[in-house]
Order: sequence, then structure tokens, then C-alpha cells
Amino acid sequence: MGTTGGRVVVIGAGVGGLASAIRCAQAGRPTTLLEARPQLGGKLNIRHDAGFTWDTGPSLLTMPWVLDELLQCAGTSLAQELDIISLPSACRYLWEDGTVFDAHASLPQLLDSIRHISPDDTHAFMRFLTYAGTIWDLTADPFLYQPFDGLKSVAKSNMLHRSWQLDGIRTMDQAVRSYFRHPYMQQVMNRFATYNGSSPFRTPATFNTIAWAEFALGAFYPRGGMYGITQLLERTAVRLGVEIKVNTAVAEISHHNGAVRGVCTSDGDYYDATDVICNVDPQIAYERFIPGAKGRAERLKKRELSMSGMAILWGIDRAYTHLDHHTVCFSPNYRAEFADIDAGRLHDTPTVYLNHTMNYDPSHAPAGGQNLFALVNVPAQRGAIDWAATAPVYIERVMDRLASFGMADIRDRIVVQHVYTPDDFAHLYNAPGGAIYGLASNARTSAFMRPPQRDRDINGLVFCGTGTHPGGGVPLALLSGKHAAGYVLGNDT
Ligand SMILES: Cc1cc2nc3c(=O)[nH]c(=O)nc-3n(C[C@H](O)[C@H](O)[C@H](O)COP(=O)(O)OP(=O)(O)OC[C@H]3O[C@@H](n4cnc5c(N)ncnc54)[C@H](O)[C@@H]3O)c2cc1C
Repeated sequence: MGTTGGRVVVIGAGVGGLASAIRCAQAGRPTTLLEARPQLGGKLNIRHDAGFTWDTGPSLLTMPWVLDELLQCAGTSLAQELDIISLPSACRYLWEDGTVFDAHASLPQLLDSIRHISPDDTHAFMRFLTYAGTIWDLTADPFLYQPFDGLKSVAKSNMLHRSWQLDGIRTMDQAVRSYFRHPYMQQVMNRFATYNGSSPFRTPATFNTIAWAEFALGAFYPRGGMYGITQLLERTAVRLGVEIKVNTAVAEISHHNGAVRGVCTSDGDYYDATDVICNVDPQIAYERFIPGAKGRAERLKKRELSMSGMAILWGIDRAYTHLDHHTVCFSPNYRAEFADIDAGRLHDTPTVYLNHTMNYDPSHAPAGGQNLFALVNVPAQRGAIDWAATAPVYIERVMDRLASFGMADIRDRIVVQHVYTPDDFAHLYNAPGGAIYGLASNARTSAFMRPPQRDRDINGLVFCGTGTHPGGGVPLALLSGKHAAGYVLGNDT
């Protein structure tokens, strides 16, 4: 904690930055939030064009109680503020041979879905839930709900004497194959590695908790769109007196004698601060904002990045009624797809994730149309792919893929199209290499080795957001904001 009671400056208004600003202001600290872009939300953003509306980043809300707890702390509640829909099916999975698997929220329906594909795998699924639920029970507190302080956190938890139950030696895929017999069920369960931008063929099986969290705890959508979360956080911050400045890019975090002093913007304005919470990725912050920290940036640059994505927003003049709210059109060879991504290449027959919000928000497209959001996994990179030249070609590949999934006429149906490549994520949000989830979680030690939230040398400098603990995704970024505020307010123990 910096000098008690002074100004807190939060750099960046992603969900992590917004959450930390709300908590600091609620605790009575004068709080200023500086955002480089014209609007708040970072990756949780929105786009309108030709009568269509798209969420440009997250489309799936998990663990909504994390958001509710933040709002309760700010004197309101999620139920009062947003209409949160519990999705009847988290996702529809499609294969080219016409197989369909719906991940129903209702257990009997879900088991029916599994039985339809592979009768042997219904029991396996129940055993898998028990197994992954145990990992969740062991890890959720030390890694998610409490600030992570390295070995201290591990020692405080009961993880050590039950470490064999964390399944940290096998890969996700090895564990999944030990439960499920059918390749399609294996592919479905392996897909959860992509939720933190890693490969199921390399990431530790511990991350099977992600599948458990979706199957056991549910998948949600805020009516009106995910951007409603950004708007809600913004109005909560404003209500609590957070001073918000947009179009204000921070250029330097100044420090003296091991303590933070304030921040300087690219326009030359200076903000005094006793505490700075940085929602910008630590690698970028150490490289560009913090004098004398380039060595640390270089060390972070050597670490593997999580995957990026190519996101395509299509406004189309018809509705593909066989698509659910979330739909995944699987590649025929998942292992080859990840091998290509690991090697920094684009896969020829990529898995395509699709989202549209017409089931709950018909106003998101003109009558008869659909607001399609497509996302394919691609390598994050530091300049290896020329996206300006590659994106148009790869979009054609994606459309070829969709033709195999009942969307053969998509090219003729597009009214409007926008594309986001890794270069855009890097440029828009200062995400290193355009990686969506910060550092990769492919190594066995990666969960322990994320850049720490509290800077070890500069008192009063704390990080939040995807680039630090606990990691990427809306609920985790919200939790990082909670822990960052806890460090600043001195209630982190
Ligand atoms: C295509 C896509 C799909 C996704 N899908 C999902 C999903 O379905 N579910 C899910 O939970 N998560 C999903 N995510 C991940 C999720 O969006 C992120 O993990 C989360 O929103 C990141 O929040 P953050 O706090 O890390 O901040 P960020 O969103 O990274 O925001 C950082 C902010 O800092 C600002 N900034 C940068 N530099 C400066 C500077 N110099 N000065 C001031 N401000 C600065 C940026 O403009 C930005 O607003 C997805 C992300 C993407 C891109």
C-alpha cells in the first residue's frame, strides 16, 4: 500500500481497471481512471453498423456472481441492474458429418445429448465432473478468490498435501482421453483450453476446472449484450465519484525512492498518486511506462503468449436458424490445428466459433437478418504474420469452412463486415502480440508464474487485468481488480 489515503490512479478501463476503481472509490479513496481510447471497456466492447450491433470481444459470461459481489460492494446488485439469462444450452457443437451436440444446462438433457453421441461416455461424464470439481475446490480459493502470493498462497491452502488431485502432470487431452472414449466428446472437453488461450495438448489437466465451471455452474448472457456490463461498471464508477478521463493515454508511471509518485500522460498532464493500479499488460507497462524496468519487460517478452484470434463481425440479410446463441463448428483434426498454432502458422481447416444474439436481442439486426460474430484461434505473434495481406485470404477460408456447416451462401448474404486481427488487439488494447489472454498457460508452472499483481520494487504500484493473476476472461479480470484494490486499501490478507 502507498501512503494512506492519497489519490489512486487507475490506468486503463478494461473490466479489471473498472472493478478496481469502483472498489477504491467505494472505500472512500479519491480515484481517477485514465483510459487511452474514447470509450471504456477495453476488450469488452461494442460496434454498430447498418442496423447491426455486435459485442466485439467476450460473448459468454461465466461466474456472474463475481460481478454481483462487486455490485453488492457498490450498494446495488446484478439482479437490480441487468437481466442475466441463464442459457438453456451453453453451446451447440457441430461436425461436418452432421453430428450435433447441445451442451444443455439441464443434466438429464445433457446426458441424453452425450448418450446420443456415445452411450459409454455418460458415466464418464459424471466421473469427470467429480474429478474436475475436486480440482476446482482445491484451486478456486488460492488462485481465484484470494490474491495470489506465490508459495505463501499455496502453503496457506490445502493444495500441497492433495497435490496429486490437481492432475498437474498430465495434459488436459491426456486426462480427457482417460475419461471419454468418443473423439467428439474428447474434442468438446478439450475445447475448454481455449478459454485461457492455451492448447489442450500442452496445458496441464488442472485446467479441466474450466469445463467443470461451465457445465456445473452455467453459461450466461446479459440481455442487451455483453457491453451492458461495461456500461453498468461505468455508471457505478461515476455514481461513486470516480473521475473518468477518456482519450487519455498514460506515457509514464513515475516513481522515486521505491515509491510510486504519479503518472504522466502522452499530452503532458501529470496526476499525483499515492497508488497506481495498472490495467495495461505488465510487459507493455515495464517496457514503455516505467523508467528503469526494461529488463523486466525483456524477461516477459521471452515467455510464450496465449493464443490470439481473428474475429469477424458479419451483418447478414438472413438468419441461420440451425445456429444457437453459441455454436462451434469443429475442425476435423484438432491436434493438427493446435500444432499449427503452436508453430505460428494458420491452420487450413480451422474450428470456427460463432455467436449471434438474435434469440434474446432481436433488435441487434434488421428484420430477417442476423448479427454473426465468428472467431478462429490464431497464434499471437510479434510481427510474424502480415495480417493486412493475410486476413482477406483467411476470411475466405473461414467462409469455406462455414459452407460445410450449412452456410454455403454466406458470401452472398453479407451486408457488412468488420475484422479484428491480432494486430488490432495489440493496437487497440495494448495486448502484447495481440494475445487475448496474456501469457500462455501451456507450461505446468504457468499458473504460478504469471506476473505478480504487486510490483516488488515500487511501493504503491499494482497490476490488474488479463496480464496478471488470476488470468484472462471477464470474471477473472474482475477478480484481479478486486485483489488490486485490496492491495491498495490494505485489506489483502
Ligand atoms: C475476441 C475476444 C473474445 C473473448 N471472449 C471472451 C468470452 O466469451 N468470455 C470471457 O469471459 N472473456 C472473453 N474474452 C476475454 C476478455 O475480454 C478479457 O479477458 C477481459 O475483458 C480483459 O479485461 P482487462 O481488465 O484485462 O482489460 P483490457 O480489456 O485488456 O483493457 C485494458 C484497457 O487499458 C487501456 N489502455 C491501454 N494502454 C493504455 C494507456 N497507455 N493509457 C491508458 N489506458 C490504456 C486499453 O485501451 C483498454 O481499455 C475475449 C476477448 C476477446 C478479444
